[in-house]
Amino acid sequence: MALCTGFAKEGFREKKDFSPYRRRIASLAEGRKILKGNHQGFLLRSERRARTTHTNRTLRSSGGGSDGFDLSFEGRRKELSLGALKSFIRLLAIEEANLVIPHQTQSAHIEVVDETNRFTNLCCDGLITKVKAIALTVLSADCSPIFFYDKPNQIIGIAHVGWRGLKDHLPEKMVGVIRRLGKPRPSSIRVGIGPTIRGCCYEIGREQEILFLRHIDYRDGRRFLDLAGATIEQLIRSGIKKEEIVDSYTCPSCENDRFFSWRRERTEGRTMSVIMMR
Ligand SMILES: [Zn+2]
Repeated sequence: MALCTGFAKEGFREKKDFSPYRRRIASLAEGRKILKGNHQGFLLRSERRARTTHTNRTLRSSGGGSDGFDLSFEGRRKELSLGALKSFIRLLAIEEANLVIPHQTQSAHIEVVDETNRFTNLCCDGLITKVKAIALTVLSADCSPIFFYDKPNQIIGIAHVGWRGLKDHLPEKMVGVIRRLGKPRPSSIRVGIGPTIRGCCYEIGREQEILFLRHIDYRDGRRFLDLAGATIEQLIRSGIKKEEIVDSYTCPSCENDRFFSWRRERTEGRTMSVIMMR
């Protein structure tokens, strides 16, 4: 198990007045309300026991700065993010102790979360669990939040995938770990792709071009990578059926009024994606 100082989680923990929420994750109806206007609120919406959601910067809460509902935990925004997080998990009826926020490192490292490590600072870009009520999260601003649900085996996962994670086969590794945990057939895993920068906006250099040649769009002498398309191809290669993949078709750069985009605004702002089983 990899440990490191993930200040996102530290920041969360050091908030002494953060009283634990006792309500069970029985219903996310309230969560739906706060996501009003966020049409991609539940990517795996046909699944009753595994719920997914992600924030958008237009959410109103006691937290969030002038740039909107931000869960980045970076620098001066840390306090604002804690306020926003507090509102968010209250509305989703997630207990503080069940929230897992990893320290992301643009790696292909995955942690399986259980009772032995759920309260440690996890340093990774992929999280998987079989434990009900644990809410797995990743933060993103252009990179792809990917949700995984293996229904027969009751396993969920979430990953934060940028071009480095894709190069290092993080989506494929997520599928591999979920398969080993549950011994399912690959086709039993459903996958959701959250707001992800695409060929419309993601300009890249030669370094990335040679890695993803099939997913480059050339315009005006510039190269643009379809990060979502390349991710989906890797998932299909890993044995996930095309019809089991739900894409949000959302680009944070195109829809910058609703999502944070590092490429477009060089912001520290981040959107949080969440998956949990009840
Ligand atoms: Zn775009």
